Amino acid sequence: MSKREKSPTEKKPTKTYQFRIYPTHKQERTLEKWLVLCCETYNAAIDERKSAYRLAGVSLSYEDQCAELPDCKEVRPDLAEVPSQVLQDVVKRVDLAFQAFFKRVEEGKKPGFPRFKSRIRYHSLTFKQFGNSFQIHAMGKKNRGTLELSKLGQVKMVMHRQITGTPKTAIVKRTPTGKWFVNITVELRAKHLQEKHLPPSQEEVGIDVGLSTFAYLSTEETIANPRFFREEEAKLARAQRQLSKASKGTKERDRARTIVARIHERIANRRKNFIEQEVCRLVARFGFIAVEALVVRNLVKNPRLSKSIADASWSMFFTRLVVKAEEAGRHVVKVNPAYTSQTCSACGHHQPMPLSVRVYECPQCGLVIHRDHNGSLNILADARQAVGRHSRVIPEAPSLQPWGVVTFL
Ligand SMILES: [Zn+2]
Repeated sequence: MSKREKSPTEKKPTKTYQFRIYPTHKQERTLEKWLVLCCETYNAAIDERKSAYRLAGVSLSYEDQCAELPDCKEVRPDLAEVPSQVLQDVVKRVDLAFQAFFKRVEEGKKPGFPRFKSRIRYHSLTFKQFGNSFQIHAMGKKNRGTLELSKLGQVKMVMHRQITGTPKTAIVKRTPTGKWFVNITVELRAKHLQEKHLPPSQEEVGIDVGLSTFAYLSTEETIANPRFFREEEAKLARAQRQLSKASKGTKERDRARTIVARIHERIANRRKNFIEQEVCRLVARFGFIAVEALVVRNLVKNPRLSKSIADASWSMFFTRLVVKAEEAGRHVVKVNPAYTSQTCSACGHHQPMPLSVRVYECPQCGLVIHRDHNGSLNILADARQAVGRHSRVIPEAPSLQPWGVVTFL
């Protein structure tokens, strides 16, 4: 394998499209088989690294392990049925898992060793090199498209969106409910980025994730928690009870597991739609957006929501907000979340604010304000200060202030 030096150039902006694909039964069987083989390779590579590290204190590299692949294929001829780039990526995944492990060791943490994966948890295949291991054919007709995969052939693909940019990787994955999707990551050029820039906006906003609402804006508007959060949560709990009641190895259990998986999938989709909508609205309107740098404390702020739903929603909300804002040329500033709820947004007085206290009443200046509104004003003020914008009167100076995301902690 080539030992190319990785150039330290900054990461080019990318975007990922997800399309549903419809493999034929035969193709599906092949993909399933590849997943099993990749899972075995993954576990073997982990095992080898573990032994090398435990027995000799040696850490094997990606190149070391890639170089062994041809020999592995001699011993296990069925491995040769998997496109070699897909197998190399399996080794890459192991490499990344170990890099993350060593990074955390260096930071003085006590991480667990990278773990083996079960067949159920191994559900994606990565195809690199557009034009070589995968191809995309848009048919021009409606949404029809074809994904051509090396050693598999043409798979029907529904392209509900047009791709801009240069395709780099395609990740084919199976959902727990047995649907197949492909995530196509493209590299964007400056031209594509410019196209997405929105007309400038002078409006500013601070956003606080709320107690009773999804988010509270410094403009005194709120984003409510969608009703489906609670509805789906109840359905999920019911389905999970059914699953735990069903005895192992029965058809009932299989059915119950599919129902649970389907609810999870539906929650994920609805959550994604909800967040995408809210993020688009915020980015379209505000030119300067201040948020808290997400910390664990925030995730337990909303006791009304099922923790899993809330956690995933907020982290996704912040991630999407940052991505969309960057694309649109908006300015996002992340501030330290400490004291944003304890400080009086009018005079700077500090007082403890237990979660049960919903209204901030300042003994010093007499301000009475909704707790989350106060928080959002503090977030906006902190962000303004962090970028040296002390007043709304200072005009935007894009040439001095780099657009993008700035984190102040
Ligand atoms: Zn005050």
